[in-house]
Amino acid sequence: MLLAIETSCDETGVALFSEKGNLIKHLLYSQVALHSPFGGIVPEIASRKQLEVLSPLIKKLVEETKISIQEIKGVCVTFGPGLIGSILVGVSLAKALCFALKIPLFAVDHLQAHLFSIFLEREVKFPYIGLLVSGGHTALFLVNSWEDYKLLGHTRDDAAGEAFDKVAKLLNLSYPGGPIISKLAEKGNRNAISFPRPLLEEDTFDFSFSGLKTAVLNYLKTNPQYKIEDVCASFEEAVCEVLIEKTLRAGEKLNISRIVVVGGVASNQRLRKSFAEKAQQKGVEVYFPSPEFCTDNAAMVGIVGYYKWKNGLYDTLEKEPYARSIFKKFNFQIQP
Ligand code: ATP
Ligand code: FE
Ligand code: MG
Repeated sequence: MLLAIETSCDETGVALFSEKGNLIKHLLYSQVALHSPFGGIVPEIASRKQLEVLSPLIKKLVEETKISIQEIKGVCVTFGPGLIGSILVGVSLAKALCFALKIPLFAVDHLQAHLFSIFLEREVKFPYIGLLVSGGHTALFLVNSWEDYKLLGHTRDDAAGEAFDKVAKLLNLSYPGGPIISKLAEKGNRNAISFPRPLLEEDTFDFSFSGLKTAVLNYLKTNPQYKIEDVCASFEEAVCEVLIEKTLRAGEKLNISRIVVVGGVASNQRLRKSFAEKAQQKGVEVYFPSPEFCTDNAAMVGIVGYYKWKNGLYDTLEKEPYARSIFKKFNFQIQP
C-alpha cells in the first residue's frame, strides 16, 4: 500500500494506492468556504488549516479502508510548487511517517501530478501535448514519457484560473470564480462582447491573461448597465478560444495528434465541449480527467508516486520542498 499526500495550496488530499497501482480511496478536504470572503487564498490561514486537518484526514482514510498503518510501504507527497507553508505541513508529516515506519519517501512535483492525472482513469500513448490550466499555472508541455516532459511555454502574467478568479472578483462574485462564471455564462451570449484573444496571433507557446482581465474591467466601467451573463459568456469564450487554438497549433507544429488537458480549469464544461469539437474537426484526440481529478487531489500525486516506487526512484529525507516551479522553458526548434 502507498499513501499519497497533497497540501500544496488550500486543499488537503490523501489517497491510498495498492501495490498494483490501483487507487483504493482518496479523500479531500477543501478550505474554499474559509477563503471565499477574502476573494482568494490567504496563505497563513491555508497553512494553519492544513496542519489542523491533515492528520485526522489520514486517520479517516486508514479507518475507512480498514488497513493498518504498518501496511503502508511508502509515502508520496507534493514537494512544490505552491504555498510553502502549506507544502511544509504535508512534507513534514510524510517525512515523519517514513522515518518512523522505515519506508521510502517519494517527492512529487505538483505540476507533474496534474500532467499525469489522466492515467488515473485511462492509458494515453506518448508523446502527447499537455495543457495544464490551473489556478497558479497555464502551460504547454511536450510529454514524451513519465520521466521526459518539457515545458514549451507558459503564461507571462496571470494563469487562466487566476483570470477567472479575478474577473469574478470584479463582478462581485465569490471565490473560486471559475465554476460561478461558467454557470452564469450558460445563460449569456458568447458573442455579445468582443474581448481580446491575447497572444493568439503571435508565434509563441506562451499565454497572457492579465490584459483580458483589464479589458473586462474597462468594459464594466464604460457599461455600468452590463448584463452579467453576457460578460461571463464572452470572457469564458475568449479564454477557451485562446487555450484551444494555441494547444491545437502546438500539436500541429510538433506533429502530435494527442492532447491531454489537466488542472482545475480543465473541469470547465465549455472548454471540454469546444475542445472536443475542434479537435475532432482536426482529427486530434483530446482527453480530460474527470472533474474530480482536475482540481487538486492526492490521487494524482499517488499515480506519479506509484511510478517512482515501481522504478525505485526514492528520495531522501533531506530533500527540501520548493515554492516556485522548477521547469525551465525548452527551446523547441521548429523544423523548416
Ligand atoms: P496550481 O495547480 O497551478 O498550483 P491550484 O492547485 O490552486 O493551482 P487547481 O486546484 O488545479 O489550481 O485549480 C483551481 C482553479 O481552477 C481556480 O482558479 C478555479 O477558479 C479554477 N476552476 C475550477 N473550476 C472551474 C471551472 N468550471 N471553470 C473555470 N475555472 C475553474
Ligand atoms: Fe493544482
Ligand atoms: Mg486549489
